[in-house]
Amino acid sequence: MSDFTRINGALACEGVRLADIAAAEGTPVYVYSAATIRNRFRAIDDAFASHPHALHYALKANSTLAVARLLRSLGAQADANSGGEIDVALRAGFIPPEIVFTGVGKTQAELAQAIELGVRTINAESEGELERISALARARDTRARVALRVNPDIEAGTHPHISTGLKTNKFGMAIGAVRDICRRASRLEGIEIAGLHIHVGSQITDLAPLRRAAEAIVALARELRGDAVSIDHVDLGGGLGISYDGSPVPDAADYAAALLPAVKDSGLTLVLEPGRNIIAPAGALLSTVVDVKEQPGITFVVLDAGMTELIRPMLYGAFHRIEPVLAATAPEITCDIVGPLCESSDTLGKDRRLNRPAPGDLMAVMDTGAYAAVMASNYNRRTLAPEVLVDGTRWTRIRRRQTIEDILALET
Ligand SMILES: *Cc1c(COP(=O)(O)O)cnc(C)c1O
Repeated sequence: MSDFTRINGALACEGVRLADIAAAEGTPVYVYSAATIRNRFRAIDDAFASHPHALHYALKANSTLAVARLLRSLGAQADANSGGEIDVALRAGFIPPEIVFTGVGKTQAELAQAIELGVRTINAESEGELERISALARARDTRARVALRVNPDIEAGTHPHISTGLKTNKFGMAIGAVRDICRRASRLEGIEIAGLHIHVGSQITDLAPLRRAAEAIVALARELRGDAVSIDHVDLGGGLGISYDGSPVPDAADYAAALLPAVKDSGLTLVLEPGRNIIAPAGALLSTVVDVKEQPGITFVVLDAGMTELIRPMLYGAFHRIEPVLAATAPEITCDIVGPLCESSDTLGKDRRLNRPAPGDLMAVMDTGAYAAVMASNYNRRTLAPEVLVDGTRWTRIRRRQTIEDILALET
């Protein structure tokens, strides 16, 4: 099923040996599979085929232009979380009516940009933001389509740092307050309330909270229609998780089976904003072993990639499989696989069983298509790693390695 398989023991992405990419580009390097992106986008699209729907790919998961263009070519639309992501969406060929704009702290400049472009919907976070959108739109003699981001107070059962649908989280408007806010907002000029939006968290692998959130928001949409608010869609956000460790997780068909009953007879278009589920399994981060250190009671395998290329393990305690790229035969050891940065939490894998590697060996950190390159930093003056897109037996560099000159060009 995966497009990362072993050919004669050597890890390959589709028809390209990862060792060949590492030899050409150096390490660290991110490698993405176009086939995985296509298959996973289509799986979600097909699963929801029975209901009018739009898939707005969450650019924040991975917004490299070539990735965004590939998704657009498949029929994806875009979910942008900042002015920068709106710019990227436009550069990738999305037109404004294909873009929804989400974000908990949209600035006046970002709202003005979205209104002037005429994006499909601005997912508004608060009553204050509705008033600001109204004022900006009136000043431009236009009307902005908005959806209200609802906080349903539902526990998504994911890591606390990536749950967003609890009343203690900063996102959205409390579900009990939305009807009154809507009543007041319907008197504001310059806005048209067109939908309701929720996003309860990321890496969700229990569908029950997503189903409950869908039911709650559809019920609210019906009430608002009763109040003569012309809701035409519900946007259920993203959040569908993947299996990082090989344990079974719901697939696109299970996801659709959980959500579709809630919207089926509602007359509402369904908008979804999948990110991770499409792109995470499409990526691997290649890295070279720089040292193998024995300390009393613990062995460290030090890589040339770390928190600057993949911060998820240190941010969320996230697990990623780490595998040797070439067939390994040395005896197994238990080790911590760490990065080169000056932080003890710069650890990519703890207590891993691995055929003892040697300096110079290549390792692949799997499922790093989402929230990896986009969260990279220049800490320790490290340059951003290049990105490669594999398609069949061919591969293309879609972002070159940053140089120290690129970084210093900004400085006096
Ligand atoms: C992050 C985010 C998404 C994408 O989440 P995934 O877990 O990657 O699917 C979608 N919508 C909103 C509003 C988000 O903040």
